[in-house]
Amino acid sequence: MRPIKLTQWVISGGVLFAGLVRAITGQGLRFCVVCQHHVPAFLPWRGGWAAAPPLMAALHVIGSDLDHFACPRCGATDRDRHLHWYLDRSGIAKSLHGKRVLHFAPEKGLVSWVASFEPAEHVLADLYPQCDDIRRIDLESIPFADGYFDCVIANHVLEHVGSLERATREIGRVLSSSGIALLQTPWCKGLARTIEDPAVVSPEARLQLYGQDDHVRLFGSDVYERISGDALRAEPVTHASLLADVDPDRYGVNPDEDLMLFRR
Ligand SMILES: [Zn+2]
Repeated sequence: MRPIKLTQWVISGGVLFAGLVRAITGQGLRFCVVCQHHVPAFLPWRGGWAAAPPLMAALHVIGSDLDHFACPRCGATDRDRHLHWYLDRSGIAKSLHGKRVLHFAPEKGLVSWVASFEPAEHVLADLYPQCDDIRRIDLESIPFADGYFDCVIANHVLEHVGSLERATREIGRVLSSSGIALLQTPWCKGLARTIEDPAVVSPEARLQLYGQDDHVRLFGSDVYERISGDALRAEPVTHASLLADVDPDRYGVNPDEDLMLFRR
């Protein structure tokens, strides 16, 4: 009996030790770059891809990773985590020191991080603000002078705005001559052209056609051309070119999602 007990003790101890090493090193765990913590998994959004509108799954829409969406600790989404990586690695985050930033639909986890670089001004904006720190601002009519901002951030916003042309013209207008805009949005390589029909107004139809009941378009492979319009110039950055060592599974990001960077 005694040797068996000893063996079991050694095995249990080994398992415990391996678990401890895993917890310390983070091996096998996921890591959220926004809250800087290891987590066992990222949580799915509304049932994940299995529950998504069939058209969205069939078209392989590049947007949120519905199966590995939210950080269980801080709530950051995959697109927040990816934007964090892109802004960090590109040096854009650091370059915001002393600059003026207009931040639409500000993500909780990114706001404090962007603020830590001490921009001269960090205007938080939303059409439907949920707290006093956020100003009610319509992206189609931005109440600031021409060339006022050095950076505009609108992460997953352009698929919601009524007039894309007015919104992008306004973004171009308020950007300084060296300013940049970071305009992440879902899009689909399988569509030659953006789908947008003003007659589609019911939430049910929008869910099926655009992927979410409050989206008003689904961008196709003309996405950069459509957003650029006459006001902006697209300079997308790929995950492979900037974040090749950032493992999509471990960090819960979609490697097909570019940094959708635009200049005036
Ligand atoms: Zn987190």
